[in-house]
Amino acid sequence: MRPRLHNLIFLCMAIGIAVGLPLAWSNGPKDADKNGFVTRQEWADAGEPADAFAAEDLDADGNIDVGWYHETLLWLDLVGKIIFIGLLKMIIAPLILVSIVAGITSIPSFGEAGRIGWKALAYYVVTTTVAVTLGLVLVLLVQPGDRGNVETMRTDRLAEIERADAAFRAETGLDPTLEENEARWLTYLAAREGEVRGERYERVASKKDRSTYDMFVDDIVRPMIANPFASLTTRNSLGIIFFAIVLALACMAVGEPARPLIDLFQAANHVVMRITIWLMAISPFAILCLLAAIVARHGPAVFETLGWYCGTVVAGILIHSAFLLLVVWVVGRKSPLAFIRGIREAWAIAFATRSSAATLPVTVRCVTKNLGVSPKVANFTLPVGATLNMDGTALYEGVAVIFLIQIFGSMPDVGITLELGHVVLIFVTAVLASVGAAAVPDAGLVTMVLVATAVGLPVYYLPFIFAVDALLDMFRTSVNIMGDAIGAVVVDRLEGDPAG
Ligand code: ASP
Repeated sequence: MRPRLHNLIFLCMAIGIAVGLPLAWSNGPKDADKNGFVTRQEWADAGEPADAFAAEDLDADGNIDVGWYHETLLWLDLVGKIIFIGLLKMIIAPLILVSIVAGITSIPSFGEAGRIGWKALAYYVVTTTVAVTLGLVLVLLVQPGDRGNVETMRTDRLAEIERADAAFRAETGLDPTLEENEARWLTYLAAREGEVRGERYERVASKKDRSTYDMFVDDIVRPMIANPFASLTTRNSLGIIFFAIVLALACMAVGEPARPLIDLFQAANHVVMRITIWLMAISPFAILCLLAAIVARHGPAVFETLGWYCGTVVAGILIHSAFLLLVVWVVGRKSPLAFIRGIREAWAIAFATRSSAATLPVTVRCVTKNLGVSPKVANFTLPVGATLNMDGTALYEGVAVIFLIQIFGSMPDVGITLELGHVVLIFVTAVLASVGAAAVPDAGLVTMVLVATAVGLPVYYLPFIFAVDALLDMFRTSVNIMGDAIGAVVVDRLEGDPAG
C-alpha cells in the first residue's frame, strides 16, 4: 500500500528532527567561513570544549575545520531552501493571479462576488481581532518577560550599554547622561547595534525612522497599486491580488466580449494546479531537509532561553486554533475532526515551509478536494486570505513587542512603563503589521518594526527574538493557513445556505 502523503510528511518531519538534533549537539559554531573553518574564539564562544577537535582539523592559522557540519547544512539548504522553496516561489505569483481571476470570474454575477468578498472580510476582521486580543491578554497575564532567565538578559544588556557608554565617552568626549547629549548617544547606540547585529538587523533598521503613516503608505497602499508586471516579477502579493481583483471585475463587467480571456484564465488555473500536484510529490523529502537544517542551526537550546515567550505565543496559537475550530463547527457546520483530517497536509507544509503563499496551492487542494468547498469560493478567498488574513502573525506581533518591553522596558535607552495607551497602540499596529506582512518566512518579524516604532521600542531590540523566530513562524504560519481554510469553509457555508 502506498503511504498517504501527509503520513509520509510527518514521518519525514520526525526524521528531519532526528537528523538535525545530533548535528545541533555535535557542533556549536554556526557561522563557518566559506571553506568551513571557525576561529578558536568562535569555537569557545559556542561553548565547545577547547580540545574537542583533532589536530588534522586545524589549518595553518589554528582555525578549526567544521567542514563536514558546514557541508551537511549546505546540502540540506540546497534541497530544502533553494530547490523546494524556490520551486514553490516559482509558482506563487502566477498562482495568485490566475486563481483569483479564475475564482472571481467563475462567479455568475457581480452581486455574488461582492457578497463573497464582504463575508470573507467580515470573517477576517473578527478572527484577527480575536487573535490579537487573545495574544495581548495572555502576554499581560503570563508576563513571560519577567520569568525564566530574564535577569541574565537584562544584565547582559546593561553590560553592553555600559561598554557602549565607555566607547561613546572615549570617541566623543561627551557625557551620555546629560540631556543635551541624549539624541546623539541614542543614535550612536543604534548605529553600534546595527553594526553588530548583521544583515537581518539592517533590514529592520532601514525602516526604523518611519512613522506609522509612512509604513501604512509604503507597506500597504503603494504595493497594492503597483505596476502589475512589476508585482508579478517581484512577488508583490498585495499588488497581484489587487490587480487580479480589478481585472476579474472588469472581465465580469465587460461580459461576453471578455469570454476568451476568462476561458484562458480558467485553463491556466487547471495547469497551475497540476504543477502544484507535481511539487507535492517531492515535498516530504524537502521537508525533511528543511527541518533538519533548522534543528541543526538552532538546536533545542532555543527553548531554554526564550521558553516562556515561545510558550506564550504557542499557547495563544493553540487557544486561537480551538476558537477557529469552534467557528468551523458552529458557523461552518463542519466537524472539527473532519476539518483537521482534511487540512493536515496543508498544515504540515505550512509548518515546514513557514510560508502561507508557498502552502497556498496545497491549501486550495485540501479545501476543495477534502472539505468540499466550491472552487469559486476557495479560489477567491484563499489567495486573498493567505496574504491579508494572518491570525497567527497578528497574535505573535503583540506578544513579541510586549514581551520585549517587559524585559527591556527599564533599560536606559527604552524607558517604557506599559500603560493602556501602549496596549491599544500595539493592538492597532499589530493588526496592520499582520495585513502588511507578505506570506513568506520571517515576514512578520520585518513588519514588527511598525509595532515597535509606534510604541517607542528601539528596533535594535527585535533581534533578541530572532533565534526562536523560525520556530514560532512554523506555528503562526500553520494557524494562518488554518484561519484561511476556515474562512473558505464558513463563506462557502453561508453562500450555500441563503438563510445564513
Ligand atoms: N510566515 C508567515 C506566513 O507566511 C508570515 C509571518 O512571518 O508571520 O504566513
